[in-house]
Amino acid sequence: MTLAIETSCDDTSVAILEKHDSEALTPDATEAATLHFHEKITSDNRATRGIDPVVALVSHQANLAGLIAKALRSLPLRKRSDSSPVIQDVGEDRDGRSRKKPDFVTVTRGPGMRSNLAVGLDTAKGLALAWQVPLLAVNHMQAHALTPRLIDALESDIKDSGKPAFPFLTLLVSGGHTMLVHSRSLCEHSILAETTDMAIGDLIDKCARHLLPDNILGGSKDVMYGRLLEEFVFPRSAEEHLDYNYTAPASRLEEMEMRDVGYGWSIRPPMWQYGRNNQTSYSFSGLESSVLKVLKQRPDIGVDERRALGREVMRLAFEHLATRVVAALTLHPELKDVDTLVVSGGVASNQFLKHVLNVYLQERGIMDMHIIFPPPRFCTDNAAMIAWTGMEMYAAGWESTLDCLPLKKWPVDGKDGVQGILGVGGWQRRRQEH
Ligand code: AMP
Ligand code: ZN
Repeated sequence: MTLAIETSCDDTSVAILEKHDSEALTPDATEAATLHFHEKITSDNRATRGIDPVVALVSHQANLAGLIAKALRSLPLRKRSDSSPVIQDVGEDRDGRSRKKPDFVTVTRGPGMRSNLAVGLDTAKGLALAWQVPLLAVNHMQAHALTPRLIDALESDIKDSGKPAFPFLTLLVSGGHTMLVHSRSLCEHSILAETTDMAIGDLIDKCARHLLPDNILGGSKDVMYGRLLEEFVFPRSAEEHLDYNYTAPASRLEEMEMRDVGYGWSIRPPMWQYGRNNQTSYSFSGLESSVLKVLKQRPDIGVDERRALGREVMRLAFEHLATRVVAALTLHPELKDVDTLVVSGGVASNQFLKHVLNVYLQERGIMDMHIIFPPPRFCTDNAAMIAWTGMEMYAAGWESTLDCLPLKKWPVDGKDGVQGILGVGGWQRRRQEH
């Protein structure tokens, strides 16, 4: 069992995850892990209409300890027959039973904002010292990639669709990242395509700020503008069936065509002219420029036209994601064994993205790819995925040294002079007594 902390960006999240010994499971038990606690507090960034690192930092500092205190009250009670270590005085029940102590503490070490990471890492070191248990300071991107394995281990009722055994592909589409990752084993990941400018979530948030009417923007409870933009461009009631009326381009040539959607403007697809080399890159900034250009040309733009513009940007951005999946499968013969694509990150909750990816890949003859969209609470930043990563690294025999520092950059595939997950130092073989 581990207590896990995530503070890399603007979400302060804590989880308690217990993995069950497979031999101890009863034959009819389907779950291999239990999430005893999982909560997050997102900093309020409405004033700046986007994440302000200092506001996020202060929110971690104000909220983390309280969230951990709450989490401790969800630790399972120790059975009388059990002799495992306990934490005293944390919400004992009426019979005076104590709660089981986590076997280790997991925390996000990077990549992310250094001071924000430090709030979590220093707190985790303190807990590990006080409880005299190992510390696992793990990679946030590895955690996103392993999320579907966590989901498989949890109760069957939240299962999406099957366990991705290695190897598999992950398309990580969040506010800070856009990358296509090939995961071969716990610590072996290669980045097949990555953004060269902004993340897709950032593009969508910016376009939302340009396109959404003020009453919608101003009335928002948070800065998840992507969700608002989706609701704006595809207005519907929950039960109403959505017909996207989307046809995927049949060829590369067709993909590069600029479509007039009925208002006299058309938007150029990203990386309009690209050679073989940049099939490993994403670029989204051109789409934002195009939106600004149309808005400048059309000062009196109405709501329907704003919707059409938002929808066209989404279509092009999502097709752009799909082009690199197809390119990767064509360029890398070693991917022939891969039959699972996991789509993770906040943007993965977009229903139109699901539709575009499915239709596009089918159109390009990729029929047998199993596309998994983990539930949004596990694919935006969260401590449950961090807990799971700790679980897998612990089982593989690793723990972190107490002198490890937060890492702003920590590529999963060892680019830029950094040697991947295990190559950054701060890891040691776990001592047997734990
Ligand atoms: P993350 O960085 O993984 O926490 O995800 C946050 C990002 O996901 C932000 O850029 C959000 O605007 C974006 N996002 C969340 N929901 C949606 C949605 N339904 N459509 C598009 N983007 C979304
Ligand atoms: Zn993330």
